[in-house]
Amino acid sequence: MDFELTEQQVAIDEGVRRVCAGFDDAYWTECDENAKSPKEYYRAMADGGWLGMTMPEQKARWLKPLIEGKQKACFGVTEPDAGLDTTSLTTSPARTNSGYRLNGRKMWTSTGQVADKILLLTRTTPKAECKRPTDGMTLFYTDLDRSKIEVRRICKMGRNAVDSNAVFIDDLFLPDKDRVGEEGKGFKYILDSLNPKRVLVASEAIGVGRDALRYSVRQRPRRVRPANWAEPGHPAPLGRVLGAAGVRFLDGAAGGVAIRRRPAAWRRRGERRQAAGRPRRVLNGDAGGDDAWRHGICAGVSGG
Ligand SMILES: Cc1cc2nc3c(=O)[nH]c(=O)nc-3n(C[C@H](O)[C@H](O)[C@H](O)COP(=O)(O)OP(=O)(O)OC[C@H]3O[C@@H](n4cnc5c(N)ncnc54)[C@H](O)[C@@H]3O)c2cc1C
Repeated sequence: MDFELTEQQVAIDEGVRRVCAGFDDAYWTECDENAKSPKEYYRAMADGGWLGMTMPEQKARWLKPLIEGKQKACFGVTEPDAGLDTTSLTTSPARTNSGYRLNGRKMWTSTGQVADKILLLTRTTPKAECKRPTDGMTLFYTDLDRSKIEVRRICKMGRNAVDSNAVFIDDLFLPDKDRVGEEGKGFKYILDSLNPKRVLVASEAIGVGRDALRYSVRQRPRRVRPANWAEPGHPAPLGRVLGAAGVRFLDGAAGGVAIRRRPAAWRRRGERRQAAGRPRRVLNGDAGGDDAWRHGICAGVSGG
């Protein structure tokens, strides 16, 4: 399988990196410590055209203001008694002539403090009356009317730039035009959002992991020690663990180093160093930063 990025993916990667480069650690620390929504970052992403790149034209009414960064939306699916078991949610709108009236509770709703709109998954037919548990659910996209919806912040440790909330909905009117698609098919529609989100979250986790590794190498104190040096509880050097797992680091940008050589090449390099009477397994503490990164990983992998 070819894991190299296509030209288009490289262009996206570089474009997003350019925007992100304008927001340093101090900015994110301030957001997290003060529980401040990163609105400048959001604006920069919107101005760069990175929100909603794949907007289908027919959804322009709802998506255009989101893409332009003029509106923010939150996602109201989880409930106090329905987490992973989404089909057990109980928030049920009552039918009226021109729409629905809704009472209920949502839980963990991210960005509810700053959102203008809310996407609500509800149950319009009791589960017991449905052929399949995923039937009978209806999706709405509506104004987050704070006179009818109370959004209470949940205190949490870390990740505070993105607020998490308990949401109390009290007699909210939902006009028919705010219903997404057909009644009873909401679960099917929500999967259109959840499936890409899985890819998004996986990419996020890989990015956070790479950054954490890059930071830890950059921040480490200057010192020289054998590559097979092990801390209590950490039996193998990081590079060897990563190498054994087949990890290759290909991102050359933003302080990273393009490491494209295969472990065999690193092993030969180690052997050449050894033959020349130079230490084979040395983390290059003197070099620091990116060089330590490169040598640390190479030495770790080669140092069998
Ligand atoms: C920071 C944060 C942000 C979030 N943002 C949003 C958001 O914006 N919008 C939104 O709708 N939701 C959001 N969520 C909610 C998130 O989607 C849910 O946490 C998730 O769906 C899991 O639900 P739960 O926490 O109720 O866990 P549960 O469903 O209770 O599951 C917890 C664990 O128990 C296990 N389990 C559950 N039931 C059983 C059983 N019967 N038998 C055996 N094992 C069981 C599960 O497999 C799981 O491992 C957010 C959550 C967090 C923490």
